[in-house]
Amino acid sequence: MMVFMGLIFVVVFVFILVGMLSHFAIFGSMVWLIARRASEAAEQRRAKPCGYCGSTLLPEATMCGACGAPRDPRHVVSPATENHLTP
Ligand SMILES: [Zn+2]
Repeated sequence: MMVFMGLIFVVVFVFILVGMLSHFAIFGSMVWLIARRASEAAEQRRAKPCGYCGSTLLPEATMCGACGAPRDPRHVVSPATENHLTP
């Protein structure tokens, strides 16, 4: 009887532990993804020089006004997936 109780205790303990670990993994990766998207958005909002000609780009500009080069290659690759998580 005591062995049986111990077995049940171990099984319940393992279930709780696995559940906690999976929650940590899932929510940790979600928080990491959101934080990364936020930092990328903050990076894009900042005024920075054009990578091709060096003239300063406006924060909202997606293309260089002087030479027409894209501000960031990621804008060209996936314009439809932009601003899904950013406010
Ligand atoms: Zn330029």
